[in-house]
Amino acid sequence: MWNGKYWERVFGCQPDEAPRVYGLVELAMARLFPARCVLCLDRGQPPALDLCAACEVDLPCDVPACTGCAVPLPQPDAFLCADCLQRPRAFDAAFAAYCYQHPVDWLVRRMKYGNDIATARVLGTLLGRRLHRAHPLHVEALLPVPLHRAREARRGFNQAIEIGRAVAREVGLPVVSDVGRRCRDTAGQAGLDAAGRRDNVRGAFDLVRPLPYRRLAIVDDVMTTGSTAEEFARLLKRAGADWVEVWAVARA
Ligand SMILES: [Zn+2]
Ligand SMILES: [Zn+2]
Repeated sequence: MWNGKYWERVFGCQPDEAPRVYGLVELAMARLFPARCVLCLDRGQPPALDLCAACEVDLPCDVPACTGCAVPLPQPDAFLCADCLQRPRAFDAAFAAYCYQHPVDWLVRRMKYGNDIATARVLGTLLGRRLHRAHPLHVEALLPVPLHRAREARRGFNQAIEIGRAVAREVGLPVVSDVGRRCRDTAGQAGLDAAGRRDNVRGAFDLVRPLPYRRLAIVDDVMTTGSTAEEFARLLKRAGADWVEVWAVARA
């Protein structure tokens, strides 16, 4: 078998630094096309993260945060925010890797409006890493928030699925992307207040087959009021889910 020196020469990292889930083909591709930081164009992190370690450390982390809705908390020793104490959410817990501030907001816009699937993978990998470090993993599978067919066709991909796949790779859980469906092409949520957002997504989802798991994490890019995730969580609970949490790259 190859020793570490030979491995390093071929793949640019030690064998134990490359998660087992990276196939040899992907490692070889990463060697041919080395990871490049999307923020400063410096060298990315081997084997295939397009973000350098210095830029990763500088990203705005969302701690301490409400365990119910991931909103940053004014008192570090609190557990839930005032809103969650008053009105429990349709989901059981929420985790956001970062605050929706520069440069995370720029990365999200680049992914969504620049149709940049590579940035979705970067954001998903970062979310997976933060989950590993800062959040207990009690779920059985990941469910990306479904995008309406028409919108997915316009963008070319569903960013939540791409983020979910990268997260799944980091945390070693399956992604289930063919259970839920967005049956209504809702208007964008931007510019709506909390009540408007709730009305806008009411009845937006349905299920096309029974849930294969009971403990689920909904994956999305940005959580603003949480109304989209709540609508989807309500549907999952009605379909028999015991525990639903929300994992988002950023909390606005
Ligand atoms: Zn960088
Ligand atoms: Zn809360």
